[in-house]
Amino acid sequence: MKLFLLLLPILFFAGMMLSVEAQYGESYYTKIKLNPIKSKLKQDEYVTFSGQLTANNGAYVIQQATIHIKNQYSANFDILTLTTDANGKFSGKWKVNVASSGTLNLYATYDGDDGITSAKSKSYSVSVTKKSTNQNSNLNSGSSGSGSYDYQNSYQNKQYSNQYANQQASQKSYNVYIDPLPSWATYAGNVMYDSTKMWESANPGLKFYKASSVNNADFAVKWVKEFGAEYVGYAYGQQFVEVGLGDSNCNGKWQPYSPYYSAFIMAHEIGHILGKEHDNDPNSLMYSIALNREYAIEEQEFTLTKNYAQFVPLCTIKEVASYDYYVDSTDGKSGFDVYFVSSPNELSKWGKGESFSYYSTSGCFGEGYVRYGGTCSGVSKQGGLLIIMDQNTAPLAKVKVQLWEK
Ligand SMILES: [Zn+2]
Repeated sequence: MKLFLLLLPILFFAGMMLSVEAQYGESYYTKIKLNPIKSKLKQDEYVTFSGQLTANNGAYVIQQATIHIKNQYSANFDILTLTTDANGKFSGKWKVNVASSGTLNLYATYDGDDGITSAKSKSYSVSVTKKSTNQNSNLNSGSSGSGSYDYQNSYQNKQYSNQYANQQASQKSYNVYIDPLPSWATYAGNVMYDSTKMWESANPGLKFYKASSVNNADFAVKWVKEFGAEYVGYAYGQQFVEVGLGDSNCNGKWQPYSPYYSAFIMAHEIGHILGKEHDNDPNSLMYSIALNREYAIEEQEFTLTKNYAQFVPLCTIKEVASYDYYVDSTDGKSGFDVYFVSSPNELSKWGKGESFSYYSTSGCFGEGYVRYGGTCSGVSKQGGLLIIMDQNTAPLAKVKVQLWEK
């Protein structure tokens, strides 16, 4: 871990002004336009995401850029990943694939590059209606064809595939009854699909089907808002699975798990249904302790004014973790500096006009931006994001912060 010590607040301020100038001189400021999406969608319907990535108020287009189409409630994953063409335009289809009816908040993001800022499009609130479930309808009806849910891309970086490779199931098909997801848990809409897909990918021929009632199911799945401290999921015999959707272990406030983590718990419990025992290898899916607890995106909005700072704490079980983050001053004019710091004490120091420390690795801080995002690695559990508004901030400027463990 690298901490960079600022010598004096005066030096810091001078440095900040310089960097504002430098950045305004050298950067491309991007904007993503995402064309409107229908406000009502049905399961299995195709929806087209299209738009354009431009820079400096349309003076440039950005080619060959990766555009991520996301749902706010499961923002760790792309529902679709697209690339811009020679005109900076992108387009692709997604087959609506959700586990329950609910609302999705869909938007496009661009991660930025050297000298090119990241960008996030306007988001569209879309209500999705789940098809009434036919008995034994295939859980994976939405899985094939281009433009469907990008399963491979979502899990690629998580290095889980090897954990499934040697897990052989005895039975070839399972009917599963899934209790409807609570209305507040639409972010977990792909958990059942993702977890069964993990097993199916590792076991050619194995298929999970959705059962219309508990009576014609091999096993049933139930969602739990929060278990006690000991469990995150539970399998009762080979008939019944309960999976946790979140807990209150972080700052005493209930936080949803990331869809990735809920899918991991679900896959582990399905393992028990398939007859798997616990494994002593911590890298195995069937290890008895769920090591990779991870919370869903944290999204907060603050009302700040000039020369005011805000500390945003982190939610993690790891001593040291990596984060993706995005800070946006919603009026598009109020500039800020943002730093990952190792504890709330750094805010106190700043408040007293003392020098403070921050993680100085690239990606861990940004100075003089109205929108900024990136990835910061090696941040301690007690740490957080320190946002300092600059001199030109409007009274009551709103700043939106999104933060999630990588
Ligand atoms: Zn277990």
